[in-house]
Amino acid sequence: MKSTTKKLAAIFLGPPGSGKSSVAEQLEAEEHTATINTGRILRKEINKQSDLGEKIKDYIQQGKLAPTPLVKEAVSKILADTDEEYVVFDGFPRSRSQLKEFGEICRDNNCELTAVVIFETNREVARKRLTGRRICEYDGRIYNLYFNPPPGDSPCAKDKSLLTQRDDDKAETVENRFEEYDETTRPLVEFFLTENPGITHSINTEKEMEEMFVSVLSTLKQAGWNKLPV
Ligand code: AMP
Repeated sequence: MKSTTKKLAAIFLGPPGSGKSSVAEQLEAEEHTATINTGRILRKEINKQSDLGEKIKDYIQQGKLAPTPLVKEAVSKILADTDEEYVVFDGFPRSRSQLKEFGEICRDNNCELTAVVIFETNREVARKRLTGRRICEYDGRIYNLYFNPPPGDSPCAKDKSLLTQRDDDKAETVENRFEEYDETTRPLVEFFLTENPGITHSINTEKEMEEMFVSVLSTLKQAGWNKLPV
């Protein structure tokens, strides 16, 4: 059954490696918002080897966008199941055409778009954030070989074979993801900047993570998300 609670939505837009998902995850972890991260949802389906996972895995492995109807169905279901008042969309919509689907999903679920947050980023830094990312199989911690390597006494520093890399963080796939962003998502960013400047806010991503988080909180608060702490 669809939730009838009125919701406020924000769209986070930025290239892979911009830090937008880290901010969105922190908002969710501190219980300020629900976060709908389509990349994470789709990766989970692949790990579960569900029907959806089987249909989308080749796209994700190549760094290409999965077919919109499949993504729309997954997003719609999750939004209908959430009772949170504030919802961050991280990774959807990702193209001009997905904006139409986003509008339909919002209409069906009593959800109003009140902010678009843009995380533009230096490409070389984003490349290192992605290709350097490693996950420790022992405790699930996420490290970065360039910026945050595992500390000397950690299991992963002692046994490097415990460090795994996401398939789509491999160098070639990362370049495909950047290309996909430039071709498909950047026009959506430009659309919001020119057509909806009143709700569109650019975040400085050169800052430390915590500072970036605080500026996103204050942006959302200005967008009417009054119950957020600042
Ligand atoms: P992300 O973690 O946001 O970089 O997403 C990882 C991958 O999931 C992308 O490279 C796409 O293959 C897929 N994906 C995520 N969001 C979408 C979307 N809105 N539409 C199509 N594919 C998506």
